[in-house]
Amino acid sequence: MAMMFINGESVAAKSGQTYEVRNPATGEIVDTAPKGGAEEVQAAVAAAEAAFPGWRDTAPEARGRLLFKGAEVVRQKIDELAVLETKEQGKPVAESKREIEHFLHGLEFYAGLASKIRGAYVPLPDGKMYGMVIKQPIGVCAGIVPWNFPITLMGTKIGPALAAGNTMMVKPASTTPLTALRIVELLNQAGLPKGVLSIVTGPGSVVGEEILRNPRIRRVAFTGETRTGKHVAEVAGREMKRLTLELGGSDPMIVCDDGDIDRALTGAAVGRFYNCGQACLAIKRLFLFESIYDQFVEKLIGKVQRLKVGNGMNPDTRLGPLHTAAQRQEIEEQVADAVKRGGKVLIGGKRPEGADYEKGYFYLPTLLADVPEDARIVQEESFGPALPIFKVKDLDEAVARANKSIYGLGSSIWTRDLSRARAAAERLEAGNVWINSLHIGYDEMPFGGVKYSGIGREHGPEALEYYLEPKGVVVATG
Ligand code: NDP
Repeated sequence: MAMMFINGESVAAKSGQTYEVRNPATGEIVDTAPKGGAEEVQAAVAAAEAAFPGWRDTAPEARGRLLFKGAEVVRQKIDELAVLETKEQGKPVAESKREIEHFLHGLEFYAGLASKIRGAYVPLPDGKMYGMVIKQPIGVCAGIVPWNFPITLMGTKIGPALAAGNTMMVKPASTTPLTALRIVELLNQAGLPKGVLSIVTGPGSVVGEEILRNPRIRRVAFTGETRTGKHVAEVAGREMKRLTLELGGSDPMIVCDDGDIDRALTGAAVGRFYNCGQACLAIKRLFLFESIYDQFVEKLIGKVQRLKVGNGMNPDTRLGPLHTAAQRQEIEEQVADAVKRGGKVLIGGKRPEGADYEKGYFYLPTLLADVPEDARIVQEESFGPALPIFKVKDLDEAVARANKSIYGLGSSIWTRDLSRARAAAERLEAGNVWINSLHIGYDEMPFGGVKYSGIGREHGPEALEYYLEPKGVVVATG
């Protein structure tokens, strides 16, 4: 049985309860995890509170060094961790490994920034006084993490929180606790003082709710669905907690008639089908200029045909299963709704057949044409391997239709014309715009959404600011 890690110790749930974590490709039990509750959150918070003054006052470079050391210890185990992640999440092992590498890169990025936090000196109007803006850690923070990128999305919270001198507890998604538990244990074993970083597993409705309501947690970083995010904002808002919300997306990709078609084809195929389409910044709506529409679609069908669906443990697999039965059902319903409204399936649109697929939540990569804009797959976030493709006459139409969404996370434009690219970058309603590039989150760049895609930013030096309180200090001289 996997264990939680609270106050420097491996612990089971006080109730003794556990639950099974199953492999989405085979239905087999991977391991059991503790079913923690409010009591475990309170224990993690008490530990984080006790550890806070010591961690806050640890020299920033020393905090950074401990994070570097933690990253090194995790790196030694990367192969076994990647296999564990694939077993609980479903994605191909190569993707799990890339995800853990990204986690380590992020942790080291913030480890390096720990000693580079700066405030300000402010001359005041009378010339005799001055102000200082000093940046201080907030205190006890909590991270609530989803199942689609269970490790990087934990890292985007742990890295800046601890580098800035806060202490933290994390709650992984119930279906992907195992790799996260192991990594938090390794980071602790690498030398984090006890209580600085704890992890509590258990249902969102219990563990998550306690995090939102517990007044001693001053900062919550949440990644998940927009519906849950609204609830998080309401409940945590009552306690005046500092909040960041990284929520759903419906990223548009616009390919102009002067775009590099081959690069854009790879962008569309990887961008939609990576992690079986279960990414917040996956390409969810593809807009093609009329003149390139036919050739682009034909080539994209060819590319999609070659994507191998299967168990993520198989090195040839490009698409693992959907993460849960409910996740597959949702994409099936969105495709059925699109077809009912006049949409055409160009490829896929069903489950693969054969003994290898019987026990997992597999679904074929799917391309759709002629989907009307009121279809669910356009209006909602689609979290699976299906891509609706639209024909547009020019950039104005593409941008107008791209912006017709409640979401505003990522977006991309593919063109060789810099003025077109600039116009799109300025007018697209999104937190991020990629020009001739795959939608990828870089540790160096701020990442987050506008509209219903969330509040605040993760990644980049910007993320650190969300873990610091600026304090104004006025100094009278003479
Ligand atoms: P959910 O919102 O269902 O769950 C996210 C986390 O919230 C889980 O740990 C869950 O726990 C927890 N949770 C559930 N209910 C509560 C509650 N009442 N109070 C506090 N916490 C709760 O999202 P998914 O796991 O389905 O994740 C997929 C979503 O995440 C997609 O919408 C995706 O777009 C979004 N996402 C956004 C990103 C971004 O940066 N903008 C990046 C990646 C994903 P439990 O598992 O126990 O229910």
